[in-house]
Amino acid sequence: MKQVQNDSQSICLIEVKCTKYLNFFVKSLGIGALTEGELMLVLDGKAVSDSVRESLIPRIQGFFTNRGRAPHLTVVVVGDDKASHVYVRNKKIACEKIGMESTIHALPLTSTQKQLTQLLEKLNADDSVDAILVQFPLPAHLSSDEVLKTVSPEKDADGLTFSSLGYFYAGKPIVSPCTPAGVMTILKHYDLAIAGLNAVVVGRSNIVGKPMANLLTDANATVTLCHSRTKNLSDITRAADLVVVAAGKPLLLGREDFKQGAIVIDVGMHGSGLGGKLCGDVRFDELEGWAKAATPVPGGVGPMTITTLLQNTCLLAEKRAGLQPS
Ligand code: NAP
Repeated sequence: MKQVQNDSQSICLIEVKCTKYLNFFVKSLGIGALTEGELMLVLDGKAVSDSVRESLIPRIQGFFTNRGRAPHLTVVVVGDDKASHVYVRNKKIACEKIGMESTIHALPLTSTQKQLTQLLEKLNADDSVDAILVQFPLPAHLSSDEVLKTVSPEKDADGLTFSSLGYFYAGKPIVSPCTPAGVMTILKHYDLAIAGLNAVVVGRSNIVGKPMANLLTDANATVTLCHSRTKNLSDITRAADLVVVAAGKPLLLGREDFKQGAIVIDVGMHGSGLGGKLCGDVRFDELEGWAKAATPVPGGVGPMTITTLLQNTCLLAEKRAGLQPS
């Protein structure tokens, strides 16, 4: 009897070990097909971001050879908001690290709408500028809608102007909005097949939720878009194969809100989670042993947003130079 028990225990042990090695092998291939939670595939946005940035360098060099200058991103920031200035500086540093040119136009808080519009029109017309980004939020007296109407779609690095979004939703994107496009890059990098999945996007902002739903639809997922008025959110997310959470609510969803084996993408970014730690909209620690794959915060979606901005800048520059189909 003892021997039988030992045999069955041994068989179990062998099974567990085999599954572990198989999962390790699958993970090392970046496929992440198994659902055993302890082996959840952590989608490393920083690593994906590094590899995308690396891949941009030869394109930038090719552009330089062709045009005698590097692709050029111009960032406009208005007022003294400290966080905005940090974001703008980080974008400039990111450009310079891969050999792109970047100029910051810092306007004083007292700037009028007319002055901002005039600057943007000048940048639209400036042949040495390939891409324009206006750092939001603007001071309260300025209209972001006016900015989104003014920046030319051919130079819109964020892909968020009204014209750019028109092209995007018509299926003819000039560039795609950075954060959702970054999510798609992560999913593609890890070979996570999307076609046919039931996907849920939580959040319907113009920056993240809506374009995310559109990109997933274009990738042949069947998409449900949820928001703050959605009834029984958990029932809906629990039925999904892929959930992208962009609600802007710290630690809103946890293990019980996802089905076992789901792919969970957390776009949320909060400086004040439990214990003041940076956190997302998802309780990542609960997903181990449950989700098939998930993005952590920090180190998930975040790093891909600036990287997609760099990609967009490069693409816009190439299109303007006739080096890419427009
Ligand atoms: P937002 O404009 O505030 O939109 C939030 C969306 O979530 C809204 O559509 C809202 O619904 C919905 N929502 C709020 N509470 C909800 C709830 N309890 N259940 C279901 N839906 C809910 O935010 P956002 O600009 O899209 O950003 C979302 C999050 O992503 C934020 O944490 C932001 O910091 C982060 N973010 C990160 C990056 C990055 O690079 N990692 C980039 C952009 C944004 P209603 O429409 O009904 O109000």
